[in-house]
Amino acid sequence: MAVTDYEAVPEVSVDQHPQRGTVVMKFGGTSVAGPERLRGVARRLVSAHEGGSRVVAVLSAMGATTDELVSLAHQVSARPDPRELDMLISVGERISCALAAMAINDLGHRAVSLTGSQAGIVTDTKHGKAKIVDVRARRIHESLDRDEIVLVAGFQGVSTAQDVTTLGRGGSDTTAVALAAALGADRCEIYTDVEGVFTADPRIVPQARKLHAVSYEEMLEMAASGAKVLQLRCVEFARNHGVTLHVRSTFADVEGTWILEEDDRMLEKAMIAGVTYETEEAVYEGEGADPAEVFQALADAAVNVDTVIQIGAGLVFSAPSEDHAEAAAVLERLGAQWSERQGLGKVSVVGAGMKSHPGVAARTFSTLAGIGVRSEFVSTSPIKIAFYVPREDVERSVRALHEAFELAESTIEREHA
Ligand code: ASP
Ligand code: MG
Repeated sequence: MAVTDYEAVPEVSVDQHPQRGTVVMKFGGTSVAGPERLRGVARRLVSAHEGGSRVVAVLSAMGATTDELVSLAHQVSARPDPRELDMLISVGERISCALAAMAINDLGHRAVSLTGSQAGIVTDTKHGKAKIVDVRARRIHESLDRDEIVLVAGFQGVSTAQDVTTLGRGGSDTTAVALAAALGADRCEIYTDVEGVFTADPRIVPQARKLHAVSYEEMLEMAASGAKVLQLRCVEFARNHGVTLHVRSTFADVEGTWILEEDDRMLEKAMIAGVTYETEEAVYEGEGADPAEVFQALADAAVNVDTVIQIGAGLVFSAPSEDHAEAAAVLERLGAQWSERQGLGKVSVVGAGMKSHPGVAARTFSTLAGIGVRSEFVSTSPIKIAFYVPREDVERSVRALHEAFELAESTIEREHA
């Protein structure tokens, strides 16, 4: 067997290279959509570099490139081979990085673009949903030592079987956080087309406010319950490795939202962080199959189960709509009598303060009752209450709950150290 480059590279641990002043800056698809915006990103990276930081940038594919590549694959093949699909959709990020490197060179600074594989991002072998298992950052360190700005293609890596893999939609966030952890970066800045994390989706609640700070736990719950601003796995990674995240706008030079360890000051004034919603989730009801077997088979098929409710022999669970074919196949194979609950959406109230403040459940139930919304199922965690309601009631439920918890009031602004 050929010895690959990365096998020969020793794992670089944070302790071996305590580099201060490293910043990882991630730019999303809208931020790099077009030559002018790419030049703008290049200028931002150069100014961070001129400010004295060692700069590692992670870029997404330009605009809707990933969607277009996925659709192209489906025009050619009804069921694209997962390995080949990853080969295809990983190129979008490479395009952005190569172009940004050219623009940086034109500004008189040195830059180098790297694929996920060249950057040392090693993943497991699950195509389309790969998990990062190691970051071998030697090459990035060497470039930074030569004073180069390093551009890493987001959303991808190389598997332990030496194939190109992708990390799931939105995966560039996770690339950025993994690099920040491996490089011992001071922080990971996520530049996007919104100004931060809001108390609710501003398209539904115009009065929604940008949050100054959110704890990892809150952000995990929000990302898992429909907040699209960060990929769930990225937040998990940040929490596990203590990486401070700053979500901010590419287009306005203002402070965004900090995501970090919970801090008393954060909760003093605001026990609820926000109200989120999800409409891309399927709810299954079944019986006649052993729950242990069902969930094992779902896990093996990489179906990410969210809510689970068991009442006697009956089982209710939810999973992302995109995993529908896999979930249905599992239920069929195990001989369950099952059906899918159509037309439900989920509205969640999230806040670390509810651990210590009773009455949140009471207020949510009475708010929904007050506007005549009936929930079908409710599921909770210590910092979240989620209601499954008819899809057509989702938006007004979000607005009513946002109002009931007075989330538009600036007097409950959150602070952090
Ligand atoms: N371009 C990929 C996507 O659209 C990854 C990312 O942008 O984070 O999902
Ligand atoms: Mg994204």
